[in-house]
Amino acid sequence: MPELAQLAAEIATCQKCILSKSRTNAVPGEGPANASIMFVGEGPGFHEDKQGRPFVGAAGQFLEELLKGIGLQRNQVFIANVVKCRPPGNRDPMPDEIEACKSYLDRQIECINPRVIVTLGRYSMARWFPNAKISAIHGQPRKIEGRLIVPMFHPAAALHQPSLRKDVEADFRKLPEILAQFEKLEDSAPPPPEAEQLSLF
Ligand code: URA
Ligand code: SF4
Repeated sequence: MPELAQLAAEIATCQKCILSKSRTNAVPGEGPANASIMFVGEGPGFHEDKQGRPFVGAAGQFLEELLKGIGLQRNQVFIANVVKCRPPGNRDPMPDEIEACKSYLDRQIECINPRVIVTLGRYSMARWFPNAKISAIHGQPRKIEGRLIVPMFHPAAALHQPSLRKDVEADFRKLPEILAQFEKLEDSAPPPPEAEQLSLF
């Protein structure tokens, strides 16, 4: 079995945290195994839990619109979450749940090896920027371990808040340029050993 399918199968029956008790379906994530962009949300909501697919509710519709705005369809990117099972009542995921689920996201990233990871919301941002404030760093790409990590507001939060919505739309519009610049840099220089702020954006 391909590694991503193997992972999805493991996730489907995982009982490593308490979220396994209340889920209908685990939501491993979906997209091409060779996607160059990966989006990481927080965790499944009501509809995701029912369908076993990520971002299929209102936030998903908005994400699809944002992707369309930069010429991408959702089946061209990989979409995953920090926790793969729905927190009851859509509460925030707890630190022990995030920790229990971390190796799945790590293995997905290793497998897909995306050039760019867009974090959606605080919880996925915290994996790469543990003490950062999203209001301060959203839309600013940072190179970490050879990839660009781009923190963005969560589309569910942005959907109903006009100022955040403007921010997330503007951050998305920068993505194609960010990707193009990164590819140019990668072609001309070996990656530096440590995380480095890209000054050109
Ligand atoms: N919100 C998320 O963070 N993830 C989903 O899959 C759906 C909504
Ligand atoms: Fe396992 Fe992650 Fe689901 Fe917890 S949230 S049961 S760790 S797959």
